[in-house]
Amino acid sequence: MSKVILQIDGNNFYASCEQLVDPSIKGKGLVVLSNNDGCIIARNSEARKMGIPMGQPYFKLKNKLNQLNINVRSSNYELYGDISSRLMQLLRINCEELEIYSIDEAFGTIKRPKEKCLYQWGKNLRALVYQNIGIPISIGIGETKVLSKISNHLAKKTQNNSGIFDIGVIENKDPYLNFIKVDKVWGIGKRMSTWLKSKGITNARELRDMSSNQIKEKYGVVGIRIQNELKGNLCIPVKETSLDRKEICVSRSFSYPIDNLEELNQAIIKYVLIASSKLRKHNQLSSAITVFTNTNIHSKDFFKSEVTGKINVPTSDSRVMIKISLELTQKIFKPYRRLTKAGVILHKLQSNQYKQKLLFEQQFIKEALHQERLNHVIDQINNSNGRDTINWGSSMIEKEWSPRRKKTSMIKTTHIESIPTIYAK
Ligand SMILES: [Mg+2]
Repeated sequence: MSKVILQIDGNNFYASCEQLVDPSIKGKGLVVLSNNDGCIIARNSEARKMGIPMGQPYFKLKNKLNQLNINVRSSNYELYGDISSRLMQLLRINCEELEIYSIDEAFGTIKRPKEKCLYQWGKNLRALVYQNIGIPISIGIGETKVLSKISNHLAKKTQNNSGIFDIGVIENKDPYLNFIKVDKVWGIGKRMSTWLKSKGITNARELRDMSSNQIKEKYGVVGIRIQNELKGNLCIPVKETSLDRKEICVSRSFSYPIDNLEELNQAIIKYVLIASSKLRKHNQLSSAITVFTNTNIHSKDFFKSEVTGKINVPTSDSRVMIKISLELTQKIFKPYRRLTKAGVILHKLQSNQYKQKLLFEQQFIKEALHQERLNHVIDQINNSNGRDTINWGSSMIEKEWSPRRKKTSMIKTTHIESIPTIYAK
């Protein structure tokens, strides 16, 4: 038995999640907008067939979308994140190793019974995911990561493969590799593909067969690895994703530029509360906080500022983190700057199982335990009733700068109040 690499990818993931919570839009055109309802960042296959391009500003296409009766949704990352973690959990059970690559992509490994095609295995996994999560996926199977990526591309592009392709059992891969343009090969960036094209290399087969010395000279070990992977020699192993996160980042763009400390403080507090509740959800503690802000990246006098502060005793306590981050916010704020974005990063995360004991008086331990219970209760209430049901006073002020999300799908898989009510006679 030999090890094979799988590349698994959710099809039109954001659009599929939206369709999952609102089946009435199934079969109709759908686009999802970026933060602040700015640009189109996802579309389903129906919208693609109707000629709606990716990345275009929403206001430019508003009329066209209306005319074509295409549904529009604001991005709902809470929903996508929840569906993603369900998907990854199911994949983890079905693969030997799993590397989570992005919100909707993972590499996995399984053993291949002697020269057996894994098409049927893939078909079963695909059905299992659809039945349990409700999301269509594509599965590419190959000897290496680069080949499994190509396989996934073929699974999507070639008919009759129903979202699964196993290039590992194909002896003569040439016709398939000829079909893959060189800039579609995983790891080949824009600059590298321009260079390759200038050398007459246009597809994956030509890249595999070109002189290794030539690649080595120009791109060193990085280029050689890609070429070797195309030849079927595993060079880029699957790195199992640890369940423990290394850092948590929460950042948002504002609906309009802000220029006063009070509003920046409100935003930072809100992000600290989201980040610290994530931390507690994963049973982790943090020992450093970074707060940052910036003006519009395209503005002439672009301004960016960030400061990191140390937390002496690792914690997940919202109250402690708010206090530290407000001190840091004072340092990043500069008057007369039109700030368009801010965020918080919690780093140096560690498991709360190995909590450093407080060496101080009994009273501090008591207070810490009391605080822990309070945070826990707040999390429980917010988890079942919505994020801002109960919160710290400083975060409850009306927030006009909050990102625009006018068309958010209300049904979230995580909120009890969003579950539809069904009346039966
Ligand atoms: Mg995808």
